[in-house]
Amino acid sequence: MSVRVGAARVRALLLTLVTFCVVAGTATGCASGGDDRPRVVVTTNILGDITREIVGDEADVTVLMRPNADPHSFGLSAVQAAELENADLVVYNGLGLEENVLRHVEAARASGVAGFAAGEAADPLPFHAEREGGPDEEAGEPDPHFWTDPGRVRKAAGLIADQVVEHVEGVDEKTVRDNAARYDGQLAGLTAWMEKSFAAIPEDRRALVTNHHVFGYLADRFGFRVIGAVIPSGTTLASPSASDLRSLTRAMEEAGVRTVFADSSQPTRLAEVLRQEMGGDVDVVALYSESLTEKGKGAGTYLEMMRANTTAMTEGLTGA
Ligand SMILES: [Zn+2]
Repeated sequence: MSVRVGAARVRALLLTLVTFCVVAGTATGCASGGDDRPRVVVTTNILGDITREIVGDEADVTVLMRPNADPHSFGLSAVQAAELENADLVVYNGLGLEENVLRHVEAARASGVAGFAAGEAADPLPFHAEREGGPDEEAGEPDPHFWTDPGRVRKAAGLIADQVVEHVEGVDEKTVRDNAARYDGQLAGLTAWMEKSFAAIPEDRRALVTNHHVFGYLADRFGFRVIGAVIPSGTTLASPSASDLRSLTRAMEEAGVRTVFADSSQPTRLAEVLRQEMGGDVDVVALYSESLTEKGKGAGTYLEMMRANTTAMTEGLTGA
């Protein structure tokens, strides 16, 4: 008796579920896992903005890194790690940038999730040892900061569109291609505007000192010399020694450079260290180097970040 009732209840429950799936399925597909919208998960917020421009409303885009976070050090919550495992496509920078996240990306890829390393696909450049007597550990290693060159971002954006069309089921290909074409036009406009802006800086003043080695691609694209970095490393996770700082101040004096570009999240600390070394005669200009800000806080989008940096660099180096 109790067995029959139990079976009937199970049948009723199954019927309810099937009915739900038939009704809901017309709109959502009713696959396992709850939310059935196609989902793209992106590690860094810069790549997140670029990916959202391309995907538009065709899929949900989840960005793991918060505004103002450091891509070298940010980590994932358990919920975010699960989101990564359930994505239709994971877009990440690669080249060692997301030091605490790459193992999760590798695990997701190993379990069959499609993954695209934008930095690896955008003609990476090696770090170069630019300072006499300062053999940088990473010299010759690929530099992950490719987004400082908008030309490489154009290439990466086009490839992200290809990946979305190939791996994210249910997206409208024409919409994605149209989004990509429109964004490519904006990136082309940005590149031309940056060239024009930088043309105002005399040749001998096109010299960059930054907090860590983050603008190598920009220097390569627009003809700047990289004099050095306060943290002589490709990652913010390293810290400068006294001899690193002496060697940097010597290089700055030789090059006649008095302007240092620091990430907007840590200009104060950097300013203090360098002012001590150079006797108070250093301008520290804040840039947005590897993280977007909240909307409306100066670098809410990639385009906004690059325009703000171009203006700050041009003013910082021409004394405007
Ligand atoms: Zn960096």
